[in-house]
Amino acid sequence: MANPLYDTLFGQHHGRATDFLQLQDGQTITHATFLAMAAQYANLLTQLGLEPGDRVAVQIQKSPQALAVYAACVQAGIVFLPLNTAYTADEVTYFVENSGARILLCDQRMADALKPVADACNAVLKTLNEDGSGTFHAKAEALPETFETVPRTEDDLAAFLYTSGTTGRSKGAMLTQGNLLSNAQTLVSEWKFTSQDVLLHALPIFHTHGLFVASNITLLAGGQMIFLPKFDLDVVIEQMPRATTMMGVPTFYTRLLGDARFTRELTQHMRLFVSGSAPLLAETHVEFEQRTGHKILERYGMTETNMNTSNPYSGERRAGTVGFPLPGVEIKITDSKTGETLPNGEIGEIEVRGPNVFKGYWQMPEKTAEELRADGFFITGDLGQFDEDGYLHIVGRNKDLIISGGFNIYPKEIELLLDQEDGVLESAVIGVPHPDFGETVVGIIVAKGDSKPDLAAIKSNIGTSLARFKQPKELIILPELPRNTMGKVQKKALRDQFGDLFSS
Ligand code: AMP
Repeated sequence: MANPLYDTLFGQHHGRATDFLQLQDGQTITHATFLAMAAQYANLLTQLGLEPGDRVAVQIQKSPQALAVYAACVQAGIVFLPLNTAYTADEVTYFVENSGARILLCDQRMADALKPVADACNAVLKTLNEDGSGTFHAKAEALPETFETVPRTEDDLAAFLYTSGTTGRSKGAMLTQGNLLSNAQTLVSEWKFTSQDVLLHALPIFHTHGLFVASNITLLAGGQMIFLPKFDLDVVIEQMPRATTMMGVPTFYTRLLGDARFTRELTQHMRLFVSGSAPLLAETHVEFEQRTGHKILERYGMTETNMNTSNPYSGERRAGTVGFPLPGVEIKITDSKTGETLPNGEIGEIEVRGPNVFKGYWQMPEKTAEELRADGFFITGDLGQFDEDGYLHIVGRNKDLIISGGFNIYPKEIELLLDQEDGVLESAVIGVPHPDFGETVVGIIVAKGDSKPDLAAIKSNIGTSLARFKQPKELIILPELPRNTMGKVQKKALRDQFGDLFSS
């Protein structure tokens, strides 16, 4: 095949007048219109002097045009580098510099701030706005609606996705055509996507979840997306009757459950709800089923690996677990220090190998060698264990592990207990420096509605099930947990806030 990713996801739809994107204002974009726009963009990128393998950095709002830039890059063999729209000009400087991107595409509102960044990095600055306007689109509009697809192999790079960089500088994960394609094929088959599917898409498209999982699957299956600029509760509820499937982060589902309009009737026709990017509380899973009759299908993946595991489509979707390794994906649980595989049931580092696993970090051979073993296993930095039936449980990030007085403490074990207490909506357990123990445990609690959790009672209740060294030294109530756009709790922010609780 000449360009495996382009031909399989996009090329198959050439000339098809079938609906691809449904927009909030009722407008529809067909496959043919979308591909014509992508071809114009590919022509413009080439005209601007980009060659296969060059990088295009984009920090733009979600829109059909933004997705077409991705398609254009794949067709022209250019590496697509989407950036979180929340990044500041300083942060963008690092990504453009580090990646050597030759074009920086941004929203008009950011153009003044980013022009010096582009200039300093010898990149060309173009604009593409949420409504499709901008210097990039205007120039492309005059160009041909066809483009000769650049030949690529499965081993060629398709995208750089920078990791969130909570432990040092962000790293550019190099994803190949084969990484993306194999994962899309596996997920279409596992989750039974077809051309009849209409996916409610309210995720951002600068992240693997909304960009690759949601969009690639829909493209491969030939289905449609209700393509919303962001998650807006009213709009999602209004659009749900037109959808058959939805993918979301856990906060989407908790917010839906918090609304009385979200009922069994509203979701009756839905085929599938998928959750990922952050842990879905078992309680949310249960409440969702009670309310709608649907069991959310939870899966686990990451920027570097695409998707690794999934609860089964048919068969038991087990709350609080991320299911089984996907076909073709190997997972082992290892000792963080020795790298030895641990006996089943023990908690250890999750390692992953398969066609989904990235090629390494851009221009960071040492970092790559630290995390990607020579035999192909990637050390994810997540800790987990398999239960007796083979379901994978994630107990947290390795870096969130608390070591108190030399003992390992897994925050999840304590969070699960706190979450069951009266008046507790959710919790986050962190380790903070302690003069005697090195680190000690602090529990942050968010109250349910107007309730006022009795902290002394909670301490004593959980004390009956936890060894003394695991018991939180302090419980703190916050109105909400700090989360990023993908719904991940920002434990580092909590550690920064409460780090000096015990300093002498
Ligand atoms: P990202 O690279 O931004 O996609 O983040 C990947 C990380 O999100 C993983 O390494 C996990 O720590 C976390 N994650 C993703 N899916 C899940 C899930 N279903 N349950 C728990 N953590 C998850």
